Amino acid sequence: MPDVFADLVGQDEAVATLRHAAAAAAAVLRAAHPVAVGPGQARVEGQPGVDPVAGMTHAWIFTGPPGSGRSVAARAFAAALQCAYGTGCGECPGCHTTMTGTHADVRLVMPEGLSIGVGEMRALVLRAASTPSGGRWQIVIIEDADRLTEAAGNALLKAIEEPPPRTVFLLCAPSTHPDDVSVTIRSRCRVVPLRQPPAAAVAEVLVRRDGIAPDVAQWAAAAAQGHVGRARRLARDPEARQRRDAVLAVPRRLTGVGAALDAASALIEAAEAEAEASVAEADAAERAALQTALGAGGTGRGAAGAMRGAAGQLKDLEKRQKSRATRAQRDALDRALVDLAGFYRDALTMALRAPVAPVHTDTAAMAEAGAQKWDAEGALRRLEAVLECRAAIEANVKPRIAVEAMMLTLWKG
Ligand SMILES: [Zn+2]
Repeated sequence: MPDVFADLVGQDEAVATLRHAAAAAAAVLRAAHPVAVGPGQARVEGQPGVDPVAGMTHAWIFTGPPGSGRSVAARAFAAALQCAYGTGCGECPGCHTTMTGTHADVRLVMPEGLSIGVGEMRALVLRAASTPSGGRWQIVIIEDADRLTEAAGNALLKAIEEPPPRTVFLLCAPSTHPDDVSVTIRSRCRVVPLRQPPAAAVAEVLVRRDGIAPDVAQWAAAAAQGHVGRARRLARDPEARQRRDAVLAVPRRLTGVGAALDAASALIEAAEAEAEASVAEADAAERAALQTALGAGGTGRGAAGAMRGAAGQLKDLEKRQKSRATRAQRDALDRALVDLAGFYRDALTMALRAPVAPVHTDTAAMAEAGAQKWDAEGALRRLEAVLECRAAIEANVKPRIAVEAMMLTLWKG
């Protein structure tokens, strides 16, 4: 039976840190309750080589590129902390309920592109301060901690500065850059850096866990450039494959200014359509739930005030949904740009005759043709144009302008 860390692909160093911390945390609990020793565990004072103070702490940040498994790591660590054996055995109720998201003392916060507001954060911090019902730890996992509002970040900071004895905060963020996580929060957290997992490790997990055929798994792992979730989607979802094919057809289509601008429009519109499809269901469900909660109509005393309140809540929901849609569009566009960057990277390594495997094996012939036509310098200029486009969009340049500029450079070189 694989333990809770089994799905953390290619992250040996981080897993060793987390195992060590979970053992130290278990030692802290044993010291507090000397009788509560888990079955199968030796009755020893702590474990050899485990220093509870150095091993365990109340606030952690998991960082790494998209797809490296930040939230997978946070959840696995939470399970190991709640594990009856303190190891993350994967079998006991503590492990099981944490991994399936039903543990009473583990709360998962997923902003989904809506930023976490201060009210929500205060309520969360308050609940996290209560005594853990399972007798181990109160754990709050915050995915996308980079999407906290400033006020919510301050509310969180207060809790991290004076942590209740049994409360653990697990934050996930792309990096520890001050734009992602404030310096004051970061300075009070231990950082667990995750790396981009190698393609072979990603392929292995697709075969083992998802039952995907080895040749498909290898292709998808390489094409996804170390992003586990993306690799799984490419292996399983024909629509995701079609979208990728359309993106990788771009270099061939760039035959002039008009074609370059057309390609820009197509890329933007495809990202919009993909984003719309991904949020439409959630939008409709949230709107229906709010309307039900508010009740339809209503007369008599107080109804006018209630109506005004309802209109405000609907407006608020629409605003948050719009922000999520924008985030989904950016994410979809960014995935396309990463695919495109992979193509020009292939052309560059081929022009340099570097002995490395291509990202996109299925467009390798086209990349080779590009390498011959552009040389290394031209391939590098094109790769840089894609990366500049990503950076510009991240810095809030209008996506259409950034993508048009990129397409013109990809055409002209
Ligand atoms: Zn367990």
